[in-house]
Formats: sequence, structure tokens, C-alpha cells
Amino acid sequence: MNMTVEEKLGTNKYFVDEHHPHIEIDSSYPDRKEKMKLVNACPAGLYKLNEDGTLSFDYAGCLECGTCRILCLGTVVKKWEYPEGTKGVEFRYG
Ligand code: SF4
Repeated sequence: MNMTVEEKLGTNKYFVDEHHPHIEIDSSYPDRKEKMKLVNACPAGLYKLNEDGTLSFDYAGCLECGTCRILCLGTVVKKWEYPEGTKGVEFRYG
């Protein structure tokens, strides 16, 4: 059976740490190109550019791949850590 990317991501389980975001961003970082890197590269599609040019981000569906850290830590991405202990994504295979 062929599954879409969204369906595959939907099989993962996420244990979200509501009180401690493991990634923090500067949503109004001035360089649009830098923000677009994140919009285009995040495999879970968690970065969205708003009409007013600010960036929306929801860490709840993060796959912990580290792509945004490599691309933009020190610019748009202000903090990147793995979630604590039992929090974060649990991948389902098969
Ligand atoms: S670590 Fe990967 S999945 Fe998580 S927000 Fe960054 S690019 Fe997206």
C-alpha cells in the first residue's frame, strides 16, 4: 500500500513537553531568505511563513532530525536541544 508522507508521519507518536520547547526561534528575524530555508527544508513542514513576513513554528511534530539546527542555529534558530527524557518523537516502522 502506498502511503503519503503525511500518513507516514501520522504513524509516529509524539510526547510533547508543553512547558519546555526544545527548539526556540526568532519569528521576526529580518532576513526572509534565512526563514525560507527552514520553510523548505523541515521534513515535517513545521515552519510556515506568514503574510506579514513573520515565521510560525510548532515544535510539537518535530522529528529531531537536526536540519534546522544545521541550517539556522545562530540566526533564526535561537535554541536547539533534544527533548528531555521520555519526551519527543517515537518512530513507528513497518
Ligand atoms: S529538527 Fe527537523 S523536524 Fe524538527 S523542526 Fe528542525 S527540521 Fe523540522
